[in-house]
Formats: sequence, C-alpha cells, structure tokens
Amino acid sequence: MSQIEVLAVASEIYPLAKTGGLADVTGALPKALAPLGVRIRTLVPGYGSVLAGLERGRTVRRLDRFFGGPARLLAGTAEGLELFVLDAPHLFDRPGGPYAGPDGTDFPDNARRFAALGRAAANIGQGLVPRYRPQVLHLHDWQAGLAAAFLVYDGGQRPGIVCTIHNLAFQGQFDSKMLNELGLPARAFTSDGVEYYGDIGFLKASVRLADRITTVSPTYAAEICMPQLGMGMDGLLHGRADRLSGILNGIDVDVWNPADDALLDTAFATPAGRAGNRATLQARFGLAPDPDATLFAVVSRLSWQKGLDLLLEALPVLLAEGGQLAILGSGDPALERGFQAAATAHPGRVGCVFAYDEALAHLVQGGADAVLVPSRFEPCGLTQLCALRYGAVPVVARVGGLADTVIDASPMSLAAHAATGVQFAPVETPMLEAAIRRTVALHRHPDTWLRLQQNGMASDVSWRASADRYAKLYRGLLAERGG
Ligand code: ADP
Repeated sequence: MSQIEVLAVASEIYPLAKTGGLADVTGALPKALAPLGVRIRTLVPGYGSVLAGLERGRTVRRLDRFFGGPARLLAGTAEGLELFVLDAPHLFDRPGGPYAGPDGTDFPDNARRFAALGRAAANIGQGLVPRYRPQVLHLHDWQAGLAAAFLVYDGGQRPGIVCTIHNLAFQGQFDSKMLNELGLPARAFTSDGVEYYGDIGFLKASVRLADRITTVSPTYAAEICMPQLGMGMDGLLHGRADRLSGILNGIDVDVWNPADDALLDTAFATPAGRAGNRATLQARFGLAPDPDATLFAVVSRLSWQKGLDLLLEALPVLLAEGGQLAILGSGDPALERGFQAAATAHPGRVGCVFAYDEALAHLVQGGADAVLVPSRFEPCGLTQLCALRYGAVPVVARVGGLADTVIDASPMSLAAHAATGVQFAPVETPMLEAAIRRTVALHRHPDTWLRLQQNGMASDVSWRASADRYAKLYRGLLAERGG
C-alpha cells in the first residue's frame, strides 16, 4: 500500500489554536490516519499561539509582498503534528482569536487573511516547497475554501481537492468588489466558480470545485441538501450529492480517557467510580450536595445554534423534577445573563461557570448524570461523544451527528441493551421538557441507568472507523484521477 501525501488546510488546529470542534478534528486526523498509510501535513495561519508552539520551525520559502506585506512559509512540528505555517504578521499576528479581536468583533480584513491562506495552500499544491508534492489538498471549512478556486483557475496539473464542511452556518461571504484584491481572475466570478448570491463565497467555491465533499455526519450530509438546514447552499449541495458523504468525527480517546485522566477528581473505569467527581462538580458549581437529584450539565458555546434558550424555557420543568443544572459555557451575553439570573433565583440548584475551560470540561463529563445538547442543528457534535465515554448520559436533539451517535432509550433499545441516551424531536421547548422528564424517570431506576451508562462507555467514539473512511475516500479519489 503506497503512502498518500495530504496537505490539510485549516484555520484552527488543536492544541495550538481552537475555537471549536474544527480544531479537534484537524488536530486528531493526522494521528488517526498515519497507521493507514496517509501522511497529513497541515497548513495553518501564523497566529501568535501557533508561532509560539512551533518546534524546529524553519523557513522554506519567503513570500515578498504577500497580500499586503512580507510573509514566510515555515515548516516545523508541534505536539507530533507536521505543520506548514503561513507567517504573515500583517495578517495573523494580532491580539484576539483566529477570526475576531479582543472585543469579539470580526476582523475587517478576514477575506484577505483567508484568501492568503488559500493562495499559500494552492502554491504548495503546485510545488512551492522543494521535494514536496501533496496528492490531495484537504480544505477544511470556508477559511481554506479559496484554495480550490486558485488551483482550478490557475489551470495546469493540480492535486485532488477534498472539501470538508464542519459547520455550514459559517460560509465566508464577501463583497464582489474584492475579486481583484483577493487575487481571483474575473472569469472566476460565475455561478460555476466563486460567485455566491452576487458576492464571493469562499465555502461555495470549495463546494463547487472540489472533487469530493464531506461533512461530519451522515445525517448532516442529508440535512444540508434540503432548504431547512441548507442555509442557501442546499441547491448546490443537492446537485453534487453524488460527491458528498458524511464521515463522523471521533474524539481522541487518549485525551478523553476516564480511566487515566489527571483532570478528574477521581479517575474511573466503571460508573460506580464517578461519585467523587459528582460531589466535586456540585461543589465547584455551588450546587447542593444532593445525592438523589438528576444532575444535568451543559458544556457548550452559548449560541443560538446550541438551543440553550430552549433550555432556559424548560428550566422550571427541570427544577420541578428535582433536577440540578451546571452550565459551563461562554458566548452570547444574553444567554449568560439568562443563566446567571436562573442561578441567582435558584441557589444550590443552578450553577454557572462562564468560561472556556478544558480542564473543567473533563470534570463536568466525569461527574454529571446527564449532559444536555439541545442543538437546533449539529453537524456532528463532540460533547455527546465525550459524555458517552465518561458515563454521563447524553440528552440530545435528534439532529445531525447527535442523531447518528446517540441511541435513544426506547423500550426496544433498552431491552436490546443498545440504548445510550435520550433523544427528542422536533427541537422545541415542550419536547425538551418531555426529554428532561424522561431522563429523570430513567435516573430513578438505578439498574436501567447503569445499563445506559455502561452501554455509552462501551460505544466506540474513537477515530478508528472514520479514519478508515477518510483513507478510503483519498484512495478512491486518487484512483479516479489516475493514481
Ligand atoms: P462546536 O464546534 O459547534 O462548538 P462541538 O461539540 O463540535 O461544537 O465541539 C465543541 C468542543 O469544545 C467540544 O470538545 C466541547 O467539549 C468543547 N467546549 C465547548 N464549550 C466549552 C467550554 N465552555 N469549556 C470547555 N470546553 C468547551
């Protein structure tokens, strides 16, 4: 089996730069695919955090006057990842996150910043780095999308192109006046190219021009071909459905390993070992040390997508059922205010930590009875996978990857010892309330609950099966393109 060389292109990679699941995926895939004969190197922007974490960095090319300033392409490693870094201080080395400044406002030059990333990726695909010719460019999300347009409109030999959609809500849509400034030829501005509702669409270009399109769960792959969740791109995606597939995300089962997790109060291999974490979790969130309450938790960005406004509406039911709620999240100030008000009104029953805190996330997963994920849409979702592995019962909306990874506790699935959680649909408050009631009822039957936990902990949430699918996808693409 010959080795395949893949250049992944992404705006985030764990552990150097992360705002969400995208970073987890780009950080995990190289490790998961290496044993399958796929070598992935990843091109990322040279944010301060990336440059600081780069080991053995060396300059492989200088790029003078690159999108408004001097730049360098560096090669190096970080935490076992093989990286190319686009070091362009005028674009990437600034305070704030990958996309927005410290005040949370998007950078005004994001089109230029990520066009530069795409241009650099295309250049590498065309042979910019001596003795390196990737056979596949794997473009993650809109930030990498313009690489497809550069490769196609430059003409000549090009690598295969795979486009992965991690979240269709973020599309990278910018004013058509920028065409020239972004280095795109006028002929690219057609419906078969970068044009998107009169603007330039970065993700659109990638979806239109890639040889293969993937998204992060089979259900989401079907959902985005339909108007309700297609977010304007359903027509195009439906038209390219023969190129589109859903491959589930996994989690890094070494990082998320309850039997050997220093971030827990007590590591555990069976549900019985969780009690210490549960008590610590209650203390950390200011909850009463109630052994009988069903302790619900949330680990999430606080945003409309995640459906947490519905949880605020359903809170009276959760409390009337004797439940407790621990919220770990950050984002939308209105949601933070809502949960803070609930915590103030119900001391000992609702507790909040408004932060992004990886360490605390482990304790929440290891101590909560149930983890709520009431998302309006969810391409894959990682939180419920961590919950399964840690014996917290996921209570999820039946959408996207949540539908594909949690098995609802119906009488039949319980009898078959297959059930791992609770699902509800449609994503509306009364259904969430019913799911909360059902969860509390299940929790009151210790044998049933234990079985749910055991089934969850036994389910395979690793990358193993999905890594295999990506390897097959790359091999199939190369075979189609003649080796
Ligand atoms: P998304 O990418 O839409 O935010 P995912 O479920 O795919 O949602 O991935 C989110 C990842 O970030 C998960 O690993 C989740 O545990 C983690 N996460 C989200 N919010 C927080 C938080 N406040 N503190 C710690 N981890 C968080």
